[in-house]
This record gives sequence, C-alpha cells and structure tokens, in this order.
Amino acid sequence: MQIHQFPCLGDNYGFLLHDPDTGQTATIDTPDAKVINAELDRLGWTLSQILNTHHHPDHAGGNVALKQRWGCRIVGPAADRDRIPGIDVAVAEGDLVAVGNIQLEVFDTPGHTRGHIVYKVVNEPVAFVGDTVFAMGCGRLFEGTPEQMWPSLQKILAWPGDTRLYCAHEYTLANAQFALTVDPDNAALRQRYLDVQAARQRDQPTVPTTLAIERKTNPFLRPDDPKIRATIGKPDATDVEAFAEIRRRKDRF
Ligand code: ZN
Ligand code: FE
Repeated sequence: MQIHQFPCLGDNYGFLLHDPDTGQTATIDTPDAKVINAELDRLGWTLSQILNTHHHPDHAGGNVALKQRWGCRIVGPAADRDRIPGIDVAVAEGDLVAVGNIQLEVFDTPGHTRGHIVYKVVNEPVAFVGDTVFAMGCGRLFEGTPEQMWPSLQKILAWPGDTRLYCAHEYTLANAQFALTVDPDNAALRQRYLDVQAARQRDQPTVPTTLAIERKTNPFLRPDDPKIRATIGKPDATDVEAFAEIRRRKDRF
C-alpha cells in the first residue's frame, strides 16, 4: 500500500492511495482536480476511484472533472448521496470499500456535516478522517450537534494508538495555540506546540498524526480530563457537555 500526500488549495491535503499489486488508485476527496491530475501524471498512476468523506467543495469539488477524465467510480456517504456530485456507490457504517487488495471500513461520523464518513484501512494502522478530527483539533459543527460529534470522535478513539490519522487540513499550529488555552499545564502539549512551530517554519507537514499523540494533546478528545474541565469551568459536566464547551470556545478563538 502506498499513500501519496500533497498540499491542495490553501490548507487542504490531497491523498492518493495506491495498491501496487493491482495498479488501482483512489483519491481521498477531490480538493483540486488540476493538482490531483498533475500528481497522478507525475507518478504514472491511473485513477480508479474517488472516496469522498463529505460534500463540502474543498472535498468533492473536483469529482466531476476527475470522473470526466478517468471514468472513475465515486464512493460517498449514503446520508449525503444527493450532495455528492457524480456519486456511484453510497456507503455507511460498517461497509467495506476495496481499492485493489486494500480494504477500507466505513464509519459514520456525523457532526461537521450530517453525512460525514471516515475510512479506516482494515488490518493496517491508517485512516482517512476528512474534517472529523485534526491534529489537536476537530471539525467545526456546521450541521451537527455536540451530541452527534462526540460519539463520532469516540469511534475514532477506539482505534489502536498507532493508527495514522490522515486529516484533510493543515490547521495544526492554530489548533495548538487554542489547545494551550484550555490545557495550559499539559507538558506533552507544550512540547508539541514547539515541535509543530518548528516544523511549520521549515514548511513541513504535520499530517498525518497518530491517535496516541492526539489522545495526549488534543483537547477535543480529552473532555474527561479534570484539569481541562477545571480550566473551562465544567468540573461536574458530562463528557459531551465539556466537549461542547471546548468546541464553543474554539469557535470564538
Ligand atoms: Zn469540510
Ligand atoms: Fe474541509
């Protein structure tokens, strides 16, 4: 299995997933058809599938142009089939998608949008999480509620710690700055902020991240932490109430 990652648009990442045994290639989302085509041409890969996480234009905006060139199959969330341009196959929780010999499992993760899905490679520590979780962040709740988003994040939290999370945006530095406001005494977070700052100064990507690192430093995955709860003034709240307060604060940050 080969994964090729490249910047797209302002702060998106494109991902190509390639199975060398069969020559099958999928793009995870279609932020920019021109850039994706250029990367495919450079690598000599032919596009067989588009796997969409959600309907936003920076994720599905290149669907039609890529399908026109390649005749590729478009897989997307069943709950959003009306909003995914060119969709051929609608998938939902528990469905399996094959890219050659690579199998991916679909998880419904509503919250950022009502139909958002993520793809976890079966038997490999690799997941494409779209705009559900970011390094030290999570997707804005455009269409969903905290009561929907928190269970979505819990599905991701249940994966093994070495799972590499391929997030769709380079938001890490701003996320770290916010995270420090709700979790200022977290030594792992403070160190990560310095590391991320240095990486971005060298123009290096901070994606993918791993679930183990996120469990230690991502406040949106830590609403049960007593120190964070004390800082946000929610010592006795439920996890979802504490999560909602962290998200509200980020929206205003
Ligand atoms: Zn989005
Ligand atoms: Fe996005």
